Amino acid sequence: MIDKTVLYVDDSPTMRRIIQNALSRIGITNTIEAENGKDALAKLSELAESNVGMIITDWNMPEMNGEEFVRVVRETEPYKNLPILMVTTRGMKDDVMTAIKLGVNGYVVKPFTVDVLKSKIMDIVS
Ligand SMILES: [Mg+2]
Repeated sequence: MIDKTVLYVDDSPTMRRIIQNALSRIGITNTIEAENGKDALAKLSELAESNVGMIITDWNMPEMNGEEFVRVVRETEPYKNLPILMVTTRGMKDDVMTAIKLGVNGYVVKPFTVDVLKSKIMDIVS
């Protein structure tokens, strides 16, 4: 489904483990994790830009939250059009609208099922 690296970003180690397990059940094993937006930007710059296929990011995180992270990614040339899926506990309509305006391609509210994650991923990468 995705042959490039999927970067997932969440400050909770438990949530990172859940996301990684879900991705592996979906068949996505080429992954890299980061614990906040700042860490994610560092990981992105370490990877060759052509090797990143998708970003999955939390919203509420210390150091740099998902909102700030998405804003920077959308302003940075090689990553401008990279598919971004936001996975967050923030399920209010205003939050979803804000995220869409920021330029995320998909939105998943925690807790999620593997099937929901899979269908959201399919929506944005196909
Ligand atoms: Mg968080």
